[in-house]
Amino acid sequence: MERVDCVVVGAGVIGLAVARRLARAGREVVVLEAADAIGTGTSSRNSEVIHAGIYYPTGSLRARLCVAGRDALYAYCAAHGVEHARIGKLIVATEEAQLPRLEAIRAQAAANGVDDLVALSASEAMALEPNLRCVGALLSPSTGIIDSHGLMLALQGDAEDAGAMLAFLSPLERAHRDADGFALEVGGAEPMRIACGTLVNAAGLGAWGVARGLEGFPAEHVPPRVLAKGNYYALGQGRSPFARLVYPVPVEGGLGVHLTLDLAGQARFGPDVEWLDPAGYDRLDYQVDPKRADSFYGEVRRYWPDLPDGALVPAYSGVRPKLSGRGQPQADFLIQGPETHGVPGLVNLFGMESPGLTSCLAIADEVAERLGG
Ligand SMILES: Cc1cc2nc3c(=O)[nH]c(=O)nc-3n(C[C@H](O)[C@H](O)[C@H](O)COP(=O)(O)OP(=O)(O)OC[C@H]3O[C@@H](n4cnc5c(N)ncnc54)[C@H](O)[C@@H]3O)c2cc1C
Repeated sequence: MERVDCVVVGAGVIGLAVARRLARAGREVVVLEAADAIGTGTSSRNSEVIHAGIYYPTGSLRARLCVAGRDALYAYCAAHGVEHARIGKLIVATEEAQLPRLEAIRAQAAANGVDDLVALSASEAMALEPNLRCVGALLSPSTGIIDSHGLMLALQGDAEDAGAMLAFLSPLERAHRDADGFALEVGGAEPMRIACGTLVNAAGLGAWGVARGLEGFPAEHVPPRVLAKGNYYALGQGRSPFARLVYPVPVEGGLGVHLTLDLAGQARFGPDVEWLDPAGYDRLDYQVDPKRADSFYGEVRRYWPDLPDGALVPAYSGVRPKLSGRGQPQADFLIQGPETHGVPGLVNLFGMESPGLTSCLAIADEVAERLGG
């Protein structure tokens, strides 16, 4: 059986960032990816927003890794020519009763070290964005957008330059502990066995299955899995009515039906929060139901009253790998190293929903640290 130093499971943005980090530290790395290409999972089904780090509870991994990851990501994009734009975002209150929420968001952001939010009156916000209707807003100048696929290609290139190897169509099916680490059973068209000393489970929506397939892994360390789909709708015709991202104050389970822009200037609305039935967790359906757009019109018209009837067309969807369900407080990222579960050489990444894209480089540093640097 072939033996390598490290195996990373999953070639999404986080697995690639981890592979790059470990390979650049001089470690031998193989990435196992079930699909036939990088980034076919959640990493290509998101809003492509570089988040500032505003909302997360202070001291949480999401707060810390978002702020550190955001700065690292802007620097990485500049150095590697990854397309991005620091276009800024407006968080808007659409009724007087929401104004205290804006103040609370500003205080939360400041506690997280995000101290560049600017409070705007309704007229200041509407002067920036003439199509906007609001009673007050916060401007986040350090929020931006990114070409997530360009980022993943750059991470892959860096990882490979440092000696990492990617194996596609190579799903990890089971793993056993052996005296020197792990013996992995890889399925696909050409099943193989491979041994490694370090195993990083960055399988996204599949992370729970990978952990359950690790013989002897303590079941109490596999958290409950909760999946929530997010649906997006694009403007069928016309230019984007806004130059910046526009977010309402957050709602339970997500950030509210917001407007994001891609780098081509195309506007899209979403994602909403559609809690999925656990019976369907292993047969995910990414189709976007045109009927769900009906509920978007009311939400969007709170801040863009001129949204024309029938303007929203189904675009795409993503599924959030969550650790908390309806009515529960948002859970933090769960990065489990040997200090948590007692298995040397193993790191599991659970619940890597937003802001996982923004945080990928900081998450990679965190994983390296859990493995001893
Ligand atoms: C609707 C939505 C909007 C979001 N918007 C943003 C945003 O604007 N900004 C932001 O920062 N973050 C955002 N996120 C979060 C971000 O997209 C994720 O945190 C990030 O993409 C997760 O990357 P990943 O590498 O962990 O997972 P993935 O991209 O899902 O990669 C996991 C990979 O593992 C592979 N895999 C699974 N099981 C196995 C196995 N057994 N063997 C081998 N391979 C396996 C899969 O094929 C997949 O390629 C959003 C997420 C969603 C769902």
